[in-house]
Amino acid sequence: MAQYTTEAIVLRVKNWGEADKMLQFFSRDRGRIPAVAFGCRRPKSPLAGGMQLFNHLDVTLQQGDRLATVRQCSLRDRFRKLDEDLTAMAYGSFVAELAVELAPEGQPQPELFDRLLAIFSAFARHNARLIALAAGYQLLELAGLQLNYAQCTHCGKKLAGDAWFDAAEGGAFCPDCHTAAGIPYLVGQREFICRLAALDWAAPPQFSVKKAALLAAENLLLTYLRNLFGHDLKSLRFIRMTSSL
Ligand SMILES: [Zn+2]
Repeated sequence: MAQYTTEAIVLRVKNWGEADKMLQFFSRDRGRIPAVAFGCRRPKSPLAGGMQLFNHLDVTLQQGDRLATVRQCSLRDRFRKLDEDLTAMAYGSFVAELAVELAPEGQPQPELFDRLLAIFSAFARHNARLIALAAGYQLLELAGLQLNYAQCTHCGKKLAGDAWFDAAEGGAFCPDCHTAAGIPYLVGQREFICRLAALDWAAPPQFSVKKAALLAAENLLLTYLRNLFGHDLKSLRFIRMTSSL
């Protein structure tokens, strides 16, 4: 069967069998690829260093029926902060897990690939919690699953003051259109979410944000993701663990 080499990021790693790993790669030109790396947990395996979460590498894969098999790899880059800092690692895991959930197998999304590289690089310089939050909003947008944050979902009017939010109905509602199911959506929260969604990773601004707006933006994102996937992302437990240390 066909063998090919592709530029990829490791977005999920799970030990398998005696010395193997199951992985999810996200490739620049082939999208998400589930794969297995046989023997890579043996210290002498040439794959040992490469098959680690967040690694950016060139990987040679043998195509299979359901899974690709890793033949070779050469490391391009390692996001050191994500290896060394437990908080960054936890929030980075959230970004990686979300990307795996949102990226359909075998569908190239070079824009998502480049965005993920920019996001993982940003952990070296910026607050991990803010990065993960901005990444969450941006990955949803790239997947075409974003909600209305700045406009009323019903009448399309640009929101000016406090408004309402109903994720199940598509996002924000102006005071004239809001339904009984909506929750309050305050000006500060809206401005913050819009800044996160538009954040330019090449020149991220210095954020000053009120704790209430941060918590509200987090809550809104996590509630939406829970409804979307029918479960919480596993990495949230890891985040909670590190924040209680
Ligand atoms: Zn309206």
